[in-house]
Amino acid sequence: MAPLITTLLIDGQLVAGEGFVEPIVNPATGEVLTHIAGASTEQVESAIFAAYRAFSSWSRTTPQQRASVLLAIADAIETQADGLARLESLNCGKPLHLARQDDLSATIDVFRFFAGAVRCQTGQLSGEYLPGYTSMVRRDPIGVVASIAPWNYPIMMAAWKIAPALAAGNTLLFKPSEHTPLSILALAPVLAELLPRGVINVICGGGEDVGSHLVCHPKVRMVSLTGDIVTGQKILQAAAKTLKRTHLELGGKAPVIVCNDADLQAVIEGVRNYGYYNAGQDCTAACRIYAQAGIHDNLVADLGAAVSSLRFAGKRDVDNEMGPLISTRQRDRVASFVERALAEPHIERITGAAAHSGAGFYYQPTLLAGCKQSDEIVQREVFGPVVTVTRFDELEQAVGWANDSEYGLASSVWTQNLDKAMQVAARLQYGCTWINSHFMLVSEMPHGGLKRSGYGKDLSSDSLQDYSVVRHIMARHGNDLK
Ligand code: NAD
Repeated sequence: MAPLITTLLIDGQLVAGEGFVEPIVNPATGEVLTHIAGASTEQVESAIFAAYRAFSSWSRTTPQQRASVLLAIADAIETQADGLARLESLNCGKPLHLARQDDLSATIDVFRFFAGAVRCQTGQLSGEYLPGYTSMVRRDPIGVVASIAPWNYPIMMAAWKIAPALAAGNTLLFKPSEHTPLSILALAPVLAELLPRGVINVICGGGEDVGSHLVCHPKVRMVSLTGDIVTGQKILQAAAKTLKRTHLELGGKAPVIVCNDADLQAVIEGVRNYGYYNAGQDCTAACRIYAQAGIHDNLVADLGAAVSSLRFAGKRDVDNEMGPLISTRQRDRVASFVERALAEPHIERITGAAAHSGAGFYYQPTLLAGCKQSDEIVQREVFGPVVTVTRFDELEQAVGWANDSEYGLASSVWTQNLDKAMQVAARLQYGCTWINSHFMLVSEMPHGGLKRSGYGKDLSSDSLQDYSVVRHIMARHGNDLK
């Protein structure tokens, strides 16, 4: 395998970090892969000023110029996709074939989508809204953006943040999660080659030092975070001091409403795939089932069998459907949620509910039934391979329970009656509702939450709007043509 790249990208230069050194671990084995030195305080300052200097020229490039750079980045990622997928798999433990087929394909598509989207934006009509004056609207970049990413889909999250911010004409400081910097560091030489110096800076480091330095800095005009709710709250507090714009994609606890008339096979397949995809470390994971009384028992029995057939931790990559948790800490967190749930006499273990005994940070795919709406396991995000089932009688009750949540990111409803599906979809308070499906994202459609799941949209032209500001230009020209 090619040597791991451990340098940061600051002001167009690939430089060794001079800050805190972090071990980078393969969660599938527990092995330390390398050590990465994060950015020192001086390096963070120098990256911020590089982005600040680069803004005046990058912000004046045309959409066509920026689009051609994004397309070149997409092509470079495509050329290196196998190697990048290998790094993603090593650093997150996820099966290599899934990293290649899903994460890398989506990453390439996101760069290509924003290259096209920035060239065909629409807006309000220019015109004479006051006699003698012509008004027109511009959409301009914001300035220096700090983008802070989580560890669950490192390169894809980088694409979601980098592509719209650059397309809109901003300059960028990108901070990957301290656990998963390998794929974006491997891409940094390409970014250095394709973009003018300072337009993008990739700096590693912890949230409380490097992350918080970015959030507090007066030259940074916007912070975009995908991460935990608590991190979002800290960032909001810090950003308030300099009145920064914020874009927050936080946690989720997706309800899955299964009606008596649902196609049971489709539900089983959907939840088996998308309740446990990425070991459940996904903010849209289909993790909170509400099953109507008439289908409930069959669903629990069939889903239990399907979930216990999920393959993981095998020797051959292609056989594996699921990876490990990112760290022992995350696995312990998942285990303690399940232990507390099983201490409730009404909750029944259908399958799983234990750490895997071999190497790596695996946790068995787990299904718990008999859960009540008020249970912690139903209310709080576990971020692991754990799905709960709660029985309901009337659909109105299920919709009420689904909405009785601090989260508001993703949801689904399963029924063969489209009228019913549409009524439920209209009542759910979630950024996305799938009908007879779950989890599917496309670059053209917005992704983002309500309530404590945050605000701001990733993907789609809505994201371009989040990374830009509307301005009004008004020209006085009089009304008499002489
Ligand atoms: P996290 O909040 O711990 O870390 C996310 C990023 O924030 C990391 O880069 C971290 O270094 C940084 N950070 C932490 N504290 C900071 C601070 N005080 N100031 C600035 N930066 C700081 O989250 P995580 O553990 O990496 O990711 C898991 C969480 O992310 C889950 O809760 C999950 O639901 C959420 N998530 C949400 C989405 C979405 O689209 N809504 C997608 C993926 C993950």
